Amino acid sequence: MCAGLWALGLWSYRDGIGRLAAQGRTDLNLYMAHLQGLLAKYEPLPELLATNPRLIDFMRAPGGQESIQALNRYLETINRISDATDTYLMDAEGLTIAASNWQAERPFVGRNFSFRPYFRDAMGGQLGRYFALGTTSKQRGYYFAYPVHEKGEILGAVVVKIDISEAERRWAKTDRIFLVTDPDGVVFVSTQPEQRFRTLFPLDEAARQRIAHSNRYLDATLSPMGLEILKRLPEGQLVRLESEQGWRKHRRYLLQSRAMPNAGWQVHELSDTREVIRDTLKLTTLAAALAATAALIAALLLQHQRARRVHTILTERARASLERINLELEERVTTRTAELTRTNRRLLAEVDERLRAEQALREAQQALIQSAKLATLGQMSAGINHELNQPLAAIRTYADNGRLLLAKGRTQEVELNLEQILALTERMAKIGSQLKLFARKTSGDLIALPLAPVVEGAARIAAPILDRCGGTLESRVPSELSVKANDVLLQQVLVNLLGNACQAIDGQTERRIRIEAHRTQDWVITTVEDTGPGIPESDLNLIFEPFFTTKDAGEGLGLGLAISARIAAEMGGSLATVPLESGACFELRLPAADIHPSQAT
Ligand code: ADP
Repeated sequence: MCAGLWALGLWSYRDGIGRLAAQGRTDLNLYMAHLQGLLAKYEPLPELLATNPRLIDFMRAPGGQESIQALNRYLETINRISDATDTYLMDAEGLTIAASNWQAERPFVGRNFSFRPYFRDAMGGQLGRYFALGTTSKQRGYYFAYPVHEKGEILGAVVVKIDISEAERRWAKTDRIFLVTDPDGVVFVSTQPEQRFRTLFPLDEAARQRIAHSNRYLDATLSPMGLEILKRLPEGQLVRLESEQGWRKHRRYLLQSRAMPNAGWQVHELSDTREVIRDTLKLTTLAAALAATAALIAALLLQHQRARRVHTILTERARASLERINLELEERVTTRTAELTRTNRRLLAEVDERLRAEQALREAQQALIQSAKLATLGQMSAGINHELNQPLAAIRTYADNGRLLLAKGRTQEVELNLEQILALTERMAKIGSQLKLFARKTSGDLIALPLAPVVEGAARIAAPILDRCGGTLESRVPSELSVKANDVLLQQVLVNLLGNACQAIDGQTERRIRIEAHRTQDWVITTVEDTGPGIPESDLNLIFEPFFTTKDAGEGLGLGLAISARIAAEMGGSLATVPLESGACFELRLPAADIHPSQAT
């Protein structure tokens, strides 16, 4: 882009310079035409005057003061009419004999200008032209001189000096400078006043001496105007000129020059390139701005496109990752669901298993209760058998003996025997009354019943086992204590506790079992304590678990305490161990019942 701008700038600059040069050419032509017109206006005047017989006569015979004054006046009139600066007449020696400015402060009359080249030219018989700074007037002027002839003899010269400052005033422009230089390059006309009597280029010493000698520019310094050629172009020269105007020390101009051979002049025009540079800069800046805008728009479009691409990619990625996450989620959900289904199935299976186990346990418990009932019945029947057989055998013996004694007439002894039989039947009746306890319904219904008979019955059932281990049972159950319970089940619990106690004391040195009961407000607490080895701390939490047993196979199923505890709970009470120093103690807590004495049977 920079190269393009550079090329555009260069093209614009060259084009601008081309246009500037074309304009310059036109201006220069016009200016030269003006100068030529100016000179042409005065050029024939000296010749015209020189042919005037009055002047020739005067030259021949100047006459007195009056004649001179008359000529002076004549020249003054001519000068005024022609609008020249000065018009004067010189003799063959170069002495001014009459002049239009004869009345001026410093008139030319009487002064000798033979050193002027125009005089020499005129005396040589030709039109003399010269530009110089007037030695008397100190004013610039262009001199035309023409010889005054008579019969082939040159008597003197008529000189017309014109002011050419008009060629400066009317042509002064800000962006153009018109210069006229002499063959040495000294600027004697310039639309820029400070450039007057300066040189285009430095003068060499010889030229300087020559000019000084001719007194052409009096004591003007003729310093160079600080022109530097930068580039030569077909249209002219690109120069840099020292400037005293404005803030810039240098200005660039296009220098175009043309010769005016008649006058021996070089006419120059310096066209300021500022406008060209400004236009070039404007164009380049505009182009740069356009290019920058285009680049910006392109960049924005690109950015937009890129952003869209990025957006699309991101959206695509987001969609893909969402899909992936979704898939993963679905997979996880599926896996999790499968796991949960499996777990659920397993749990359901476990629940089923538990339910089945519970059912089995319940059935087992029922069966065990049943078998425990049967066992109790068995034990009971053994006990009844034992208890009834003995009195029965005794009764038979007493009856047999009574019959023998009756036959022998020993009636007194028969009566004794009969008394014994009565006592024995009473005892049997007592056993019967005990059996009544079992005759009550065993459906599990809870009734208020006295505790002592149940304990007694249980003790009776457990008696054979107690006997086998050689232990003693001490029972301290107050007769007034009643509980709300099921007698069979309660007895079963007690038989069970006594059975365990018997097994515990078996083999111990001290073999005692104690059953005690007392009431605390709403509860009746029965404790069964033994002198056995006690229950290890570690087993305390386990003994009520079903099938927990420390006994050998065949001796225990580990169900006694579990069933007993459940029975106690079902009766609204509880069964627990009581810590003891030695031995074991179980505490059966049952709801207390208040029974009227008449109800106790
Ligand atoms: P089983 O008597 O068939 O083992 P139980 O449920 O009646 O089942 O008793 C569980 C366990 O409790 C027994 O194996 C025993 O270790 C312990 N146990 C029960 N009663 C006593 C006791 N009076 N003294 C010491 N240990 C006992």
